[in-house]
Amino acid sequence: MSGAPIASGVEVHSLGCRLNLAESETLRALLAGERELVVVNSCAVTAEAVRQTRQAIRRARRARPDARLLVTGCAAEVERTALAAMPEVDGLVANARKLDPRVWNVAPATGTALTTPRHTRAFIAVQNGCDHACTFCVIPQGRGPSRSAPVAEVLREVERHLATGAAEIVLTGVDLTSWGHDLPNASSLGALVDAVLAAFPGLARLRLSSLDGVEIDPLLFELLAAEPRVMPHVHLSLQHGHDLILKRMKRRHSRADALLLVERLRTGRPEIAIGADLIAGFPTEDDAMHEANRAIIRELSIVHGHVFPYSPRPGTPAARMPQQDRPTILRRAAELRAEVSAVRGRWLAKLVGQPQRVLAEADGAGYSESFARVAVPQGTARGAIVSVMPQTLEAGLLA
Ligand code: SF4
Repeated sequence: MSGAPIASGVEVHSLGCRLNLAESETLRALLAGERELVVVNSCAVTAEAVRQTRQAIRRARRARPDARLLVTGCAAEVERTALAAMPEVDGLVANARKLDPRVWNVAPATGTALTTPRHTRAFIAVQNGCDHACTFCVIPQGRGPSRSAPVAEVLREVERHLATGAAEIVLTGVDLTSWGHDLPNASSLGALVDAVLAAFPGLARLRLSSLDGVEIDPLLFELLAAEPRVMPHVHLSLQHGHDLILKRMKRRHSRADALLLVERLRTGRPEIAIGADLIAGFPTEDDAMHEANRAIIRELSIVHGHVFPYSPRPGTPAARMPQQDRPTILRRAAELRAEVSAVRGRWLAKLVGQPQRVLAEADGAGYSESFARVAVPQGTARGAIVSVMPQTLEAGLLA
């Protein structure tokens, strides 16, 4: 044990998705006055995520032997019994209620009490839960039914982050494109994006996290295809490139739907960058289906690819299907990542000599509008948006 003094305040450890990140921010603000408290905001999307959750719990306990250690997040729902049995854990907090001050027995944090750390890019959680039932996914178990934050609440959050210097807002959720469906006037994500842009004419950069392609409403499509303040970067919850596997995943789109969507987006905005989530080694996937998965990376020119080796999740239909062997799953994941890396390399090479608008971060680099990593001139202030004409590409960084 190092000689360093043991911390005594509150710590929130965040695992998993951008939604968890945004919620952990809110938790830190909510619990700012607490003492001797450690919270692990966990993830259960894959078996690996659960392993990392356990590791984070053990590490936190070693670092804070006297603190109260509570676990929330999706693993607190999906792996409830196992986590509750860990000697390091003092208790679990229901994922759906973790942002409710009453659960923590603290006063609701409002206005100035809600300290907002300064981020150049601020994630705002506008939607939670999911009403779908993809056969591989435990998120509906971990987060419950889909629910939307009302427009007024979203605008308040945007204002709060802009007031502390955020230059880019990222709207995030579990099934973001279902935003508004549960609200009294049954609205759509396009209407929300439109409302944010109208309320904040000074906001230069609005980005969206993962989208379900077939649920993109007409207004959202127009904004993605033509609105300069909406970043030309669309991350699709694609999952696979073969129709039979998409069917067995109970996804709501086909390969052709994805190809057509991207073709239409690029007609209006050729510079748009496509990202996607893809699963490797899904049960019953044969070599030809895997090849179709690799091919769609090239056909859509996916330059921001998140590849997940399939892992069976408790209680899901896919876990009852005939499973692939682990070496095959990992080999196919490596092949998909290699495909993304090749496509990305060609894309970045084409950006050399092309002017980029870059949001500067603390480390002398930042992200372009299409989410390429670009070096900024020395002395550029963090949070500034600058024009850069990259001349070189080195190790994935344009400079
Ligand atoms: S849409 Fe499917 S993959 Fe996404 S959270 Fe819902 S059930 Fe899971």
